[in-house]
Amino acid sequence: MDNSSTSHQRQQVTILGATGTIGLQTLDVIAQHPDRFEVFAITANSNVKGLLPLCQQYSPKFAVMLQEKACEELSLQLKAIGSSTLVLCGGDALNHVSSHEDVDVVMAAIVGAAGLHPAMAAAKAGKRILLANKETLVMAGDLFMQAVVEGGATLLPIDSEHNAIFQVMPRHQSHADNYTFDHLGIRRILLTASGGPFRNSTMDELKAVTLDQALQHPNWVMGPKITIDSATMMNKGLEIIEARWLFNAQASQIEVVVHPQSVIHSMVEYIDGSVLAQLGNPDMRTPIAYGLGFPDRLSSGVGTLDLIKTARLDFCAPDMTRFPCLRLAYEALNAGGTAPAILNAANEVAVASFLNEKISFMAIPAIIEQVLSSSNIEAVTSIQQLEMVDAQARQLAAKITSTIQLSASLNTVQ
Ligand code: NAD
Ligand code: MG
Repeated sequence: MDNSSTSHQRQQVTILGATGTIGLQTLDVIAQHPDRFEVFAITANSNVKGLLPLCQQYSPKFAVMLQEKACEELSLQLKAIGSSTLVLCGGDALNHVSSHEDVDVVMAAIVGAAGLHPAMAAAKAGKRILLANKETLVMAGDLFMQAVVEGGATLLPIDSEHNAIFQVMPRHQSHADNYTFDHLGIRRILLTASGGPFRNSTMDELKAVTLDQALQHPNWVMGPKITIDSATMMNKGLEIIEARWLFNAQASQIEVVVHPQSVIHSMVEYIDGSVLAQLGNPDMRTPIAYGLGFPDRLSSGVGTLDLIKTARLDFCAPDMTRFPCLRLAYEALNAGGTAPAILNAANEVAVASFLNEKISFMAIPAIIEQVLSSSNIEAVTSIQQLEMVDAQARQLAAKITSTIQLSASLNTVQ
């Protein structure tokens, strides 16, 4: 039975990163519940071709683009079809539609560090935040969680693992309560990982991985950056840091378990020995619908889980030697302060270079490790400081990337 109700006032939703994989799946769920949700604003970086049909279909009040040229083009095209959607441009406009007084829900689905500012704006304005952009918590976990509490925001994790953990955690825990695992009777979090396309690859095979191979995720369809993060297992590394802040967990209380079928989305173990898991088909519309409907359950379009067809659920330990990104993420979390922000920035630069076929797959962890070991780790004091740290780490990563490229081309010539 659909438990949506026409007696509710329709929730006004801003979707940051509407043209992306998560953005489009959010719109898909919203379209299934027109009596509950109305699209207030949609945003994209520069993809006019992607945003235009969404403006036509959902008639949002605002469409925001980061690139000026793209804004002009979108405005012209919307005018030509007589659309009433207003086009806004730039970072301030992203913050505006994330904190606007008419907005109830903000889906934070921009990829990378670019998602931090609008997510902070939504937190300070006390919105219901559906957080897909894990980089926000990796870069600025402490400051972001403080902003959520101070702004009176409701934070619902959309990353499938964290959404699963949230679903099996004891209810009614507010971030303001500053609870610990001891209070909740929790022993540990078991964060599941598919292991990506190279789960069984040897070190030699990993060194020869091509871009096409890395872009083929066995279970999930995702944007290019997170697909590469999944192949290096940095995605799981970022998720450990994400879990640390979302659930006030210690690094030692978060264990990664490789589970190739991606049917169990994560688990929580309690002190009495109970292990609670959330299962489902690997489809992000489940956590998205959970976030949109919470505390109600909404239909999402996701089919029934066929356990008989699934037949088996396998588990094994992750291998930090073949997947050094996972080790680097644990190290950054343990180092604390600005280390996770440096890890994130170096990873973004290295992944972009790999996507542009400028470096090899195994150069990604090598670059991140070098950036981390050559940077000073400081205590986090402000978002402005984190922005500087992010810019410096990007510069350093770009420099190391050029050196690696140069030595690779010299090796080819020899
Ligand atoms: P994507 O690449 O498919 O989409 C990214 C969106 O962000 C696009 O709309 C793009 O226009 C916008 N964008 C990119 N750069 C921008 C910038 N500089 N400023 C403003 N907007 C910008 O990415 P995705 O796979 O949808 O992932 C989005 C976020 O959700 C990521 O943080 C990812 O880690 C997280 N996430 C994704 C999945 C998934 O299944 N795709 C699962 C869990 C978490
Ligand atoms: Mg995930």
